[in-house]
Amino acid sequence: MSNTPPAIRGRPDHRFENWAKTYECKPALFFEPESEEQVVEIIRRARAEGKTCRAVGAGHSPSDLACTEGYMIGTDRLNRLLDVDRDAQRVTVQGGMRLHDLHRYLHKHGLALSNLGSISDQSVAGLIATATHGTGIQYGVISTMVTEITLATAAGEILTCSATQHPHIFRAAQCALGCLGIVVRVQLQCEAAFRLCATEELDHMEALLDRWHETARSAEHVRYWWFPYSDDTVVWRANRTDATPSRTPASNWLRDRLVGYYMYEFALYLSRFAPRLLTPTIERRKVAWLHQKPITVVGQSNEVFNFDCLFSQRVNEWSVPAEHAPEAIRRLRDAIRRAPYPVHFPIEIRFVAGDDIWMSPAQGRDVCYIGIIMYRPYNKPVPYKLFWREYETIMRSLGGRPHWAKAHGLVYDDLARLYPHLDEFLAVRQQLDPSGLFLNEYLRRHLLPSGKPLGQAKL
Ligand SMILES: Cc1cc2nc3c(=O)[nH]c(=O)nc-3n(C[C@H](O)[C@H](O)[C@H](O)COP(=O)(O)OP(=O)(O)OC[C@H]3O[C@@H](n4cnc5c(N)ncnc54)[C@H](O)[C@@H]3O)c2cc1C
Repeated sequence: MSNTPPAIRGRPDHRFENWAKTYECKPALFFEPESEEQVVEIIRRARAEGKTCRAVGAGHSPSDLACTEGYMIGTDRLNRLLDVDRDAQRVTVQGGMRLHDLHRYLHKHGLALSNLGSISDQSVAGLIATATHGTGIQYGVISTMVTEITLATAAGEILTCSATQHPHIFRAAQCALGCLGIVVRVQLQCEAAFRLCATEELDHMEALLDRWHETARSAEHVRYWWFPYSDDTVVWRANRTDATPSRTPASNWLRDRLVGYYMYEFALYLSRFAPRLLTPTIERRKVAWLHQKPITVVGQSNEVFNFDCLFSQRVNEWSVPAEHAPEAIRRLRDAIRRAPYPVHFPIEIRFVAGDDIWMSPAQGRDVCYIGIIMYRPYNKPVPYKLFWREYETIMRSLGGRPHWAKAHGLVYDDLARLYPHLDEFLAVRQQLDPSGLFLNEYLRRHLLPSGKPLGQAKL
């Protein structure tokens, strides 16, 4: 009897659609491996059959970043906790583990991630592939918490890198857009589990701009939700606390779900028929209904960091050097108020500490992320391109760098000016994947120097 495990089978009928239903693709085959051996087997098969190969996590990226017409590797079954080092407060997990599951394991071991973005639906590998971030001027993007990464490479080998083992590959792999290999294992630095006390109160952007640096540092984690038609701004602040968790009043359901979700979605749907008349009114009423009263919440860190991001949406988000944020905001406000098209809110403003990860939008500088949004009520299309163009013009002129997960218009020549380590990153990519097994349309369009065949790119 043979001991060889049966070959992993791919499904030919899978259609991939991202969370917001704004991008889709039809991979040649869709695989769901459970082990590193199976990942390697898929890579070898793709290479032998001349196919490209792309991993997908939770499919939350609002762009075609994960899309492929080659082999797609779904990572939902690569979801095991592999090791917990309680003394060092480090955990090792498979790359496909979703953050919600990770929080549960961490909590059981008295640990937590130091910072988080707005949701916990993403996979760990997907999260670090795009340098996903939360907020807090002393806190870096989530990739800064990664201490070791293990890749299944195009050569069909398993390669582990860290600050001391293949350090140049590690600097590249901490934010690699899925192009260095399939991330099968990730080690994360955590801290002792903690509670957060978060407050929300209404202020005005003009007043905040006057005390910009002071307010950004007024708590461990600070974010703004800005409504430019009125200049109202919700200031969310969170600090670590020993206070007892608060109880959620039942009336919150009425405010957050009924008004903040269902009624808002319906109102935005109606506004599609008279956008200039209805949209500014709806956006003003939203502040009045949802944000007039100050709110204080105490809870487990991940629950307080995360929010309900509502329904399908187009988003764009760039980081600008922290010192340019006030100018970016003033110019954006002028553009929005002048614009003949109405836009949706809030505009989300978050603060992130600089880092040394080659492709991180916060590489080498403290940054302020400014995120714009256009909701798609009931998945209906909304006009967004003019708004995006004006926004990107402002962000570009201030040295902004786009969030990798989100659709943007930059190409190699732009990126080479913004990222001093871009060519080193591309050299590592070329070294690990000379035939472009892990490339897709997004990476070719944005990252590779144009007009140069893959093997001859100037790296
Ligand atoms: C509602 C919502 C809220 C969000 N909030 C925030 C936020 O607060 N802050 C923020 O910065 N971003 C935010 N994002 C963006 C999100 O964090 C990123 O798009 C993240 O990359 C998504 O993770 P994912 O698991 O869905 O990855 P996917 O979208 O599936 O993939 C992203 C990239 O990772 C690669 N990848 C995935 N798994 C692997 C693997 N195992 N090996 C190699 N490559 C892999 C894919 O090929 C692709 O290139 C939000 C997105 C949504 C939809």
